Amino acid sequence: MNLCDIRTVRDIMSLYNLTPRKEFGQNFLTNPAVVEDIAAACSDTKQATVLEIGPGMGVLTRELACRYRRVLAVEIDRGLIPVLKYTLSDCPEGVVTVLNQDIMKTDLAALLAPSFAEGPVSVCANLPYYITTPILMRLLESGLPFDSITVMIQAEVADRLCAGAGDKAYGAITAVLNYYGQAEKLFRVSAGNFIPAPKVDSAVVRIRLYREKPVQPRDEKLLFDTVRFAFEQRRKTLVNALSAGFSDIPKQAIQSMIQDAGHRPDIRGERLDIAAFADLADRIAAYRADACAKGSDT
Ligand code: SAM
Repeated sequence: MNLCDIRTVRDIMSLYNLTPRKEFGQNFLTNPAVVEDIAAACSDTKQATVLEIGPGMGVLTRELACRYRRVLAVEIDRGLIPVLKYTLSDCPEGVVTVLNQDIMKTDLAALLAPSFAEGPVSVCANLPYYITTPILMRLLESGLPFDSITVMIQAEVADRLCAGAGDKAYGAITAVLNYYGQAEKLFRVSAGNFIPAPKVDSAVVRIRLYREKPVQPRDEKLLFDTVRFAFEQRRKTLVNALSAGFSDIPKQAIQSMIQDAGHRPDIRGERLDIAAFADLADRIAAYRADACAKGSDT
């Protein structure tokens, strides 16, 4: 079955009385070379289990099933479940499991526990655009030891994820992602490779997760707050942005922390990499601990 053939896709959709659902970000991939390249990038080992988010009609699922030991595919659209049963019917037996769930509500730890016990687990997806960042954050914050996350996303978001500190595209999501792993842009995919065609081009990004995180803050939540405050007030200097966010700390103290960390007093948050943010967060933690100790002395 050739799910990259537009007529085949249309015939199957009409057989099941379906049309692509915008609200679920359904843009089906139709270029076989792109399907192969994404699947190949997903893992270095045939022994991997792959969590696929949003199998759609199964074009990528079929390719993953030929390459890897196991594929768990989570699809929100109930109407696509019978379609997948049909399109995946000739896949190697026992390899693919389809779940009709919202990935934002799936108990990932429970679903993947047997797979982590057996070998490496990677994520692969042509992600629905409307929910790209929440899905990525959910995967990263799950704390699950994924080997890698390979996703097709809007080209502009791909640029953001892969930007370096100080680049125009660098943002809070970039800094936070760099805490968990390293993202690389693999290739760009133009809008004409999907039906229906989205309004913008896409790109495939692979995030390799750190086994041991190189940045180890004293307080993870404080690190994320520091990043968030710095970017919430993007046009402000870091001193002003952090003063607005950490209202319990005098501006003068924040200014000293920034200068003691070796930054210019007028630096903006977008110039700091995740290690520099962690250093500042640790200084804030130390300041608070000190203030608390002084307070309890009096
Ligand atoms: N993988 C298919 C392909 O490449 O042709 C479909 C990709 S399409 C861009 C996104 C898919 O994600 C759709 O099948 C959509 O129904 C599904 N989806 C959207 N939101 C979802 C969610 N919250 N949980 C699971 N699947 C979701």
